[in-house]
Amino acid sequence: MQYQNTLSFAQQMDDQDPLKAYRKQFHFPQHEGQPYIYFCGNSLGLQPKATLDHVVEELDAWQSLGVEGHFKSKNPWYSYHHFLEKSILNIVGAASTDEVVVMNALTVNLHLLMLSFYRPTKKRYKILIESDAFPSDKYAVDSQAQLHGFDPKDAIVELAPRSGEYVLRTTDILAKIEELGDSLALVMLGAVNYYTGQFFELDKITKAAHQVGAIAGFDCAHAAGNIPLQLHDWQVDFACWCSYKYLNSGPGGVGGVFIHQKHVENIDLFRLAGWWGNDEKTRFQMPRQFVPQARAAAWQMSNAPILPMAAHKAALAIFDQVSMDQLRAKSELLTGYLEFVLNDINQKQGSNLFNIITPKDTKQRGCQLSILTKETGGKELFNYLTQNGVIADWREPNVIRVAPVPLYNRFEEVFRFGQLIEAAITETSF
Ligand SMILES: *Cc1c(COP(=O)(O)O)cnc(C)c1O
Repeated sequence: MQYQNTLSFAQQMDDQDPLKAYRKQFHFPQHEGQPYIYFCGNSLGLQPKATLDHVVEELDAWQSLGVEGHFKSKNPWYSYHHFLEKSILNIVGAASTDEVVVMNALTVNLHLLMLSFYRPTKKRYKILIESDAFPSDKYAVDSQAQLHGFDPKDAIVELAPRSGEYVLRTTDILAKIEELGDSLALVMLGAVNYYTGQFFELDKITKAAHQVGAIAGFDCAHAAGNIPLQLHDWQVDFACWCSYKYLNSGPGGVGGVFIHQKHVENIDLFRLAGWWGNDEKTRFQMPRQFVPQARAAAWQMSNAPILPMAAHKAALAIFDQVSMDQLRAKSELLTGYLEFVLNDINQKQGSNLFNIITPKDTKQRGCQLSILTKETGGKELFNYLTQNGVIADWREPNVIRVAPVPLYNRFEEVFRFGQLIEAAITETSF
């Protein structure tokens, strides 16, 4: 693609965009009567216009049916998770709906999955995680090690990029797995690192983990709805994600999990049990003995939170209309354009303004670019952007994360974002 840093080029790209109509399905926060340039879908996706009706529908059902809504409402609450599993299957690349379920929240699910898949022994007890993993994931693995009587300082192995580099090399990850060998119980990485935007090579990493007898699990919070995934084919053991980032299902929305077929078939696998994981045919007979379903749904514990599930359903209906491959095609162009515009500005200024630390290789990234700004004035640049109608994200010490999302962002917004950076160069100390 021969990009140009001009308004007419950006507008032409928007005209030709086969997904341009989807933007109309979302609400945009407003800034001085105009929609914000919202590049924060990696943190909280925008609200679909359809969400309100979906949530109100369930409130109405509760109003008019009371408890009968479990079976008699249009979308019976008893089996509400079934209305979501087909869409989720496509988003994460499961082989069947047996491998996925929507439930709980992300860190809760990560713990529940580790209770099944982190079963350390005296010899095999280590967990490999990336050094700049999301803090919640680090707290989770630390406390899991402690739960089994291990010292996190010993049990948790944090893998850092080489000195002077910002992202991990796949070869270094694979070498580390081999080095840990039979002391390694679990590889637990963010599929897309939240800080750098690096998309790890899940298939190769999973294979290497299995070769040393370890389990491979991934936190797909920044991958689900961002990059097409093939979790089943890649033989991933388990994964979890949240629905409020690229999946646009609302703050604190319900999360989801993937558990590979080979594990869901094994009903003897340990899990913390609750009535919602019981065989649906006998669930309401309240048998004394837990009868797990041979499905990921067996990991459900409580009855589903219908209102956030309804918001999730509304958002997933959009993903039913447009495939992850279509989204990915636009995403590569849109993020590629952002990279081009930023490099163009940087070059004009002698290449000393910022450094994009996200991988240049499109296969190793999704929507997000992480911009490491020069040491002075980075925060001032960020504040200038915010004051002038951009919502992005600041991470200490001086990283601005920006994520143009193919469902609702436009090329023109990327161009205008670049114009605002140029204005900040003249108007601020940046
Ligand atoms: C967003 C995110 C979280 C947040 O966890 P919650 O349990 O949903 O609050 C955790 N881990 C990663 C990698 C994330 O990106």
